[in-house]
Amino acid sequence: MGRLITPDQDDSNVELGRFLHELRYARDKKEISLGNIKIDIMRRDGEEIVIGEIKKTSRFKESARMQLGFYLKELKQRGIRARGELFFPEEKRRERVELTAELEAELDNVERDILRIIYQEYPPAPEKNKWCRRCAYAEFCWS
Ligand code: SF4
Repeated sequence: MGRLITPDQDDSNVELGRFLHELRYARDKKEISLGNIKIDIMRRDGEEIVIGEIKKTSRFKESARMQLGFYLKELKQRGIRARGELFFPEEKRRERVELTAELEAELDNVERDILRIIYQEYPPAPEKNKWCRRCAYAEFCWS
C-alpha cells in the first residue's frame, strides 16, 4: 500500500466486504474522505461524534481496532473528538473503540515500524504464514 499497490479487487473476500458494506449499511451510507483515510460511517450520538468501520469478521479484530484508532487519532489532530465503533454485521455485533493514551502509544509504535519498512529500498521477502491463504495480495507474493 505504501507504493500504491492495490489488492486483487476480484478476490472473493474483497468482493464480499464490498457487498456487505453496500447491503447492510446502505441507510447509514455517508462515507467520508479525510486526507488519506476513508471513514465508513460518521454520525452523531447526542453530543458525541461516532465513526464506524464495517468488517466482515471479528477474526482480525485487533487490526480493525488499530485502523479505527488511527482514524480517531487523525480526527483528534484536526481538533475533532470522536469515539469509534466496529461493526461485524455477519456476527450481528459491534464493539466500541476509544482513543486512550495506551492506544495512541501503540499506534505510534506501529507507525514507526511501518515507516521503517516503507523506507527500505526493497520490500522484505514474503514468508508463508497463516494469513497468506486468504490474502488479496497473494498473487504479488506467490505467482
Ligand atoms: S500473501 Fe502472505 S506474505 Fe504476501 S502479503 Fe499476504 S500475508 Fe503477507
